[in-house]
Amino acid sequence: MTAFEKKKQTSPTTKNELRLNAHAVSRGVAIGKIICLHGRKRQFYKINLETSQIERELRRLRAAVRLAARQLIKISTPKSGTIQETKANIFDAHLLILQDKSLQTKIEDTVVEEKVNAEWAVKTVTDEYIAKYKTIPDEYLRERYIDVEDVADRILTALGGGGKSSPGLEKNVIIVAKEVKPSTFIELMESHPQAIITENGGWTSHTFILAREMNLPAVTGLKRILRRVKTGDEAIVDAFEGRVILNPIRETLRKYRISASKFQASESAHLEIKNEKLKTLDGREIKVRANLDVSKGYVQARRFGADGIGLYRSEFLFNQFKGFPSEQEQVKAYGKIARMVGEEGVRIRTFDLSVEQLADETEEREKNPALGLRAVRLSFSHLKEFRTQLRAILQASVETNISIVLPMISDVSEILRSKKILEGEKEKLKRKKIVVGNVKLGAMIEVPSAVLTVNEIASEVDFLCLGTNDLVQYLLAVDRDNEAVADWFRTLHPSVLRSIKMVLKAAEEREIPVIICGEMAGSPVYAPILLGLGATELSMNVNSIPRIRNVISKIALEEAQEMIVKLENCRTADEVENAVSDFYKEKWSHLFSGEIFPPKKKLKN
Ligand code: PEP
Ligand code: MG
Repeated sequence: MTAFEKKKQTSPTTKNELRLNAHAVSRGVAIGKIICLHGRKRQFYKINLETSQIERELRRLRAAVRLAARQLIKISTPKSGTIQETKANIFDAHLLILQDKSLQTKIEDTVVEEKVNAEWAVKTVTDEYIAKYKTIPDEYLRERYIDVEDVADRILTALGGGGKSSPGLEKNVIIVAKEVKPSTFIELMESHPQAIITENGGWTSHTFILAREMNLPAVTGLKRILRRVKTGDEAIVDAFEGRVILNPIRETLRKYRISASKFQASESAHLEIKNEKLKTLDGREIKVRANLDVSKGYVQARRFGADGIGLYRSEFLFNQFKGFPSEQEQVKAYGKIARMVGEEGVRIRTFDLSVEQLADETEEREKNPALGLRAVRLSFSHLKEFRTQLRAILQASVETNISIVLPMISDVSEILRSKKILEGEKEKLKRKKIVVGNVKLGAMIEVPSAVLTVNEIASEVDFLCLGTNDLVQYLLAVDRDNEAVADWFRTLHPSVLRSIKMVLKAAEEREIPVIICGEMAGSPVYAPILLGLGATELSMNVNSIPRIRNVISKIALEEAQEMIVKLENCRTADEVENAVSDFYKEKWSHLFSGEIFPPKKKLKN
């Protein structure tokens, strides 16, 4: 019996309407049929194919097997002592498994007979093999199931990276998964799902940042949801209330269809943008910029009145190209977005990637990826790719306004090192008579050590970007993607507010701008607090722009500063939230109705 079949047997079929509470992480209401995404390491899903699609699917599968074989041959060939013999033997064994005719035939037969996508066939067939291996009495042979698992994973990776994407999902589906990686999310979005439900992830997880950008309702925190539902179940996702309704009755469906259309009407009420500078009631000009992952989003951002791009997450090109894009591909991508944006400019953050996101499956997994080889550290360890990216930016910046932002800076030495590399690449291009533009250099401030040494950093850069998502994560030691510790992710913790103040002050003294670009900037509740602390530039998810412009235009900076004074003596996040709530109720009840912050869970003592 395969692992999947076991899962099917133990999943109860829920017939009655069932309401589950969840955390809303991207607003909206959706109605659709569930599709379950299984697999923790690699995410895959079952797609029913038309007969006409089978031939193409077999070609895709064979190409992936060939690619996997080429990789294994490459890594199992010992070269000048870089790989030990034992390692080579392991990969030789993997090659034997991969080229096992009966395994290949079984996978192909599954595609043909069950009319399913290659990923699903690979997973179900290899699961059967794994289950058989696990029953072998001999311990050594029994342990070989890990190798089968590894080979399956390699084929699945090759299927994802072969250039040809898997066939689309059916219409009107709601994705249910333990968690969804950003790259899987981007792939799934091509099929226009209706909503997303996960067990894990938080407001600042990249997947949910993207979901908000793409207006896809999303909820999280539903433990063991994959055991309660099965593909094909009908569901409603209410990402206003943080609710999932399984098997809704007709009356519930009717009610939700009405509320979904009301939401669309009220959302569009904010959308009317006057093309004038955004000012508070007492006349302070505030720049509202866009955070962008995919360049398509800028068309909408401009409609919403965005002042250029405050943060361009270039690593999404890595997802798009399934690896590091070439120099020319990058010149084209950066040039295109910079020309679209024009005068207000784009701040391109260099690849903010972790080792895990690099395709090389042979790399050791890190125990603590958030604290590991990532962002600027990874660029320093992949100097060739870093230099390529810098050269691409330099070339794209001719007659455009582009700045570079370095992610996860921990102190000024990383700035000095990056500047040297940048100068080196500039010289190289000039020697080749290639014209380069003038780029400004900025640092992401998102690590506590960068906050504490912000004076030194600020002296060496042209501007700062304050990433509150990571700042909260690292300051409070709370994994931003782990729902289990979401209660500790306190954006209004006094330590966060004091850090922001320190950064703003250091920048003011050196007369350089600070762009606040974490999710905090796009929240109508938090944005006035940032203004009160001294921020004048906010960068956010495109869809947050209309609401933030609306709030800022209806408050006075003086009031926001008055509120900050009241927060100065708060000792805890709860105290800050209570003080903020009181202030909003007293001064800004015209902007915020109901409770400002969700009610706290009662702690057991
Ligand atoms: C941040 O950390 O706040 C930020 C803007 O960057 P990202 O969310 O991409 O880590
Ligand atoms: Mg960050």
